[in-house]
Formats: sequence, structure tokens, C-alpha cells
Amino acid sequence: MATLALLGGPTTKTKPFPAWPVFDQQERAAVLEVLESRVWWRTPGTKTLGFEQAFAEYHRAKHGIAITNGTHALEVVLAAAGVSSGDEVIVPDYTFVATASSVLFTGAMPIMVDVDSETFCMDLEQVEHAITPRTKAIIAVHLGGHPVDMDRLTEIARKHDVMLIEDCAHAHGSRWRDQYVGTFGIAGTFSFQEGKLMTAGEGGVVITSDDQFERAARAVHDCGRMPGEWFYSHYVYGSNYRLSEWQGAVLGVQLTRLEDQTRRRHENANLLDKLFEDVEGITPQRLDPRCSRNGHYAYIFHYDSAAFGGVPTERFIEAMLAEGITNQAAYPPVHALDLFQNGEYRKRLCPEQAAEPHAFLKQPFPETDRAAWQTYWVPQTALLGDEEDMHEIVEAVKKIQEHAKELA
Ligand SMILES: *Cc1c(COP(=O)(O)O)cnc(C)c1O
Repeated sequence: MATLALLGGPTTKTKPFPAWPVFDQQERAAVLEVLESRVWWRTPGTKTLGFEQAFAEYHRAKHGIAITNGTHALEVVLAAAGVSSGDEVIVPDYTFVATASSVLFTGAMPIMVDVDSETFCMDLEQVEHAITPRTKAIIAVHLGGHPVDMDRLTEIARKHDVMLIEDCAHAHGSRWRDQYVGTFGIAGTFSFQEGKLMTAGEGGVVITSDDQFERAARAVHDCGRMPGEWFYSHYVYGSNYRLSEWQGAVLGVQLTRLEDQTRRRHENANLLDKLFEDVEGITPQRLDPRCSRNGHYAYIFHYDSAAFGGVPTERFIEAMLAEGITNQAAYPPVHALDLFQNGEYRKRLCPEQAAEPHAFLKQPFPETDRAAWQTYWVPQTALLGDEEDMHEIVEAVKKIQEHAKELA
């Protein structure tokens, strides 16, 4: 095989992965229509309203509330759920900061739990163990698009009478036993930030099938207003989390692409699983047979450096990038973030909780560490490529393995 691209050889990748975001005349027309209508905000508009309804319908939920972004969507849900000072909310240690920081936003304490060694989703044994009388909610994160074991998690939530919230920022269109994510608990949240599975640059949405919860969340997202009431009556504490008509218009079109794109990602991921079967040291995120469709925000695989002559993960990633294979940085463990290590998080807690010792500061999170420091994330945009693109990803890995000595 040719020399590694990192050492001056030719790249494995012969043509670029598909460009992202995907758009055409339809997005262009949708934006222009908003421009010319002179209705640029959601309150009198129809675009954002139409989008949130269509998105909810797609996921078989009753209501959708478009929100400024995925972080805010979590804040709105937690506020509407009444999570506040003194409460605890269980979150996975392996996720984007927002899953935990949104809990701090409400004044409650996020309780991190380790993840499963094969799916990298929250370890449900530990979730159940972490429940205390203070536990108000559990936030499930469908990591990389792979649903948490919702059979078990819904049972745990029911048994302990704890609210279940789904952070579906990676999982638009993912299904567990043919049921769409975001519909198992009180609410599901999604993000439309540029890297996510559909996008308007920024954006988010909350879906729920609970009428009362929908009212509460809608009020929080719109300055404490109640739907149908006078514009200047504000009944509860809320803020302005409204999504603009520009974004609603773009997302309405993006949603029409989601089904085909999800199918393609799922199929390409299956192909990668097959191609990686005979590559020693590469273990793809396990696909639970009950996951009837994985939206695949990323194709995640564990990298065992021992099978690559001891080449560390960072060096492997460098070599992959040089071969022309895109990478999305894996998350660091939440508990290890400066915010938690330097004690800043305590400023958000009530005095009693702030003064307590917090187990996560000392507790080991071995599986999260492994997931954080020994995985490669192929971004969803690459999964929109063709079969040749998938073959090239695997060829690049094999090439690096063959030349591992030169990298050590
Ligand atoms: C992206 C993301 C969010 C936050 O979404 P933003 O739209 O970027 O605010 C929350 N949770 C997870 C798991 C994410 O990946």
C-alpha cells in the first residue's frame, strides 16, 4: 500500500464527501418568501408554526414548539417540568455540556452517570442506582443517534415516579421498536445547529404529547404568555425562546429531506459495520436489535491502539484526516469539564446543595473515559455519501494499521 498521506503519500479519499448543509431552490424560495412577506418573526407568522407541527407529526407527537436552539429547548422543558433549586436530574457523563448545564440553569444539580461500554449511551444500572428522593427527572441522550434502551428506562422512570426527558439532539428520526425518539417521556428536545441532522444554522424544538405540559412549555418559551390570551398578559416566568420565521421556513424544507437522508445514513452505517468486521481493533458502536432505525448523528467506533502498534488516538485521528476522512471531535467527559472541576457549577445551586460533597468529583467513569479518548466519530455528513465513500473510510483505517510502525 502507498505511503501514509500524513507522511507525504497520496490520500485514500479520491473525491470529497457530500457538501453540508444540503439545500437547493426550495430553501432559497422559502427564505425569499419570508423576506418579501415582511413577516419575519413567528408570532404573526405561519412558517415556524407550520414547521413545528410538521416536525411533531413526523415523530408521531401531538405538539411541537420551535425554540431558538437545542440548549434552550432543554431549559424550556426543565423549567416547564418544574425542575428547580434543590432537585437532582440524572444525566449521562458522555454528552455535550448542554445536557448538564441546562440542569444548572434551573438551579438543580445534574447527577452524572457512566455509559454502557458498547452503545456509549447511559448505563441504566447506574441510573437506577443514582435515584434519590431529590431526583426530579432523567435526561436520556440518544448518543450518536442510537436510542438509550427505552424498554428499561421507561420502566425505571415509572417505577420511581421520575420524569423522563429525551435529549434527541443526535437522533432526529431515530426509532426504538419503531417508536420515534422524543415520545417516550414527558418531552423530547432536538437541535438544528449546523452540524445536526437537519439545520437552519441554529434552532431547536420541543415535542410532547401532553396537553398540559405543552401549554406550560409554550408559556416558558414566550415570555410567560398563555396561548390565546392578551399579548401583554404574562402569567408565569418565561423568557424569549422564539424561533424566527427565517429558520422556520428553512427547517420546513429541511424536514422534507430527513426521511431519505436518515435511510441513507442508516444503510451506510450498516455497510461500515460489515466492512469493519474483519478489521482488528475497530469496534463500532453496537446497534441494539431493538433500535429499528438509527438517525446516526455520527458513526462512532472504538479504536484500540494495541491493534495499531500503540499509535495513540490523537495520532490516528491526524492520520485519518490526512487521508481525507473527516472527523468530529468526541466529547470530553462532562464531569471533567472546567465548569465542574473548578467548582463554578456550585454557584448555580442552593446553599445547602452547594455545600455538600459531590460524588462525581471523585468517582471513576471508566466507560465514559474510554468513549471520550478512544473513539473516532465519522460525522453524519460523511454518511450521506455513496458506497465508495464508505469503502474509502475503511481503506484509510486499514492503510494506517498497515503502516502503524511508521507513526509510532
Ligand atoms: C447540540 C447538542 C445540544 C445543544 O444544541 P444547540 O442547538 O447547539 O444548543 C444538546 N445536547 C446534545 C447532546 C447536543 O449534541
